[in-house]
Amino acid sequence: MPVVHPSSTDAYRDAVNKALALLTQDQRGGMPNIEVVPPVGPFETTAPSPRFGRQTVDGYSDTVNKDPNIYITGNSDNYHKAQQGDKQALIRLASDIVHERAHLEHGKDEMQAYDAQLAILKALGADQKLIKSVQASRDFVASPEAQLVGGIPQ
Ligand SMILES: [Zn+2]
Repeated sequence: MPVVHPSSTDAYRDAVNKALALLTQDQRGGMPNIEVVPPVGPFETTAPSPRFGRQTVDGYSDTVNKDPNIYITGNSDNYHKAQQGDKQALIRLASDIVHERAHLEHGKDEMQAYDAQLAILKALGADQKLIKSVQASRDFVASPEAQLVGGIPQ
């Protein structure tokens, strides 16, 4: 289990709380515990791919070990922006949380997780740039490159 960020319980969580507040009660339903952590673990980043560049991980979950928590990496660019109140970054964070919840509910399947994430992005009014970037990540995990770099984050 990852080390919980020492500041996970204070102001460092503001962005998580603000992101959750964007969701309706229905969309928030059954939300697991969320921990803000440094980017530890084997899937902090994957090797750069010629077609997609370096993929960074803004959140993850561990369905293999049945860990009930969602982990958000607190020093990602997106998390910094979200902490500053950037609306699109908060929407992205909310969608990352929904992506990880889909894994905890349905397992490793990335397509299902990305589809849940993209649906939330659209519902929350994400801009086209953000939707395209998540779509690109979905394309990446479905690509041969993702297999080549030896596994993908959940
Ligand atoms: Zn995933």
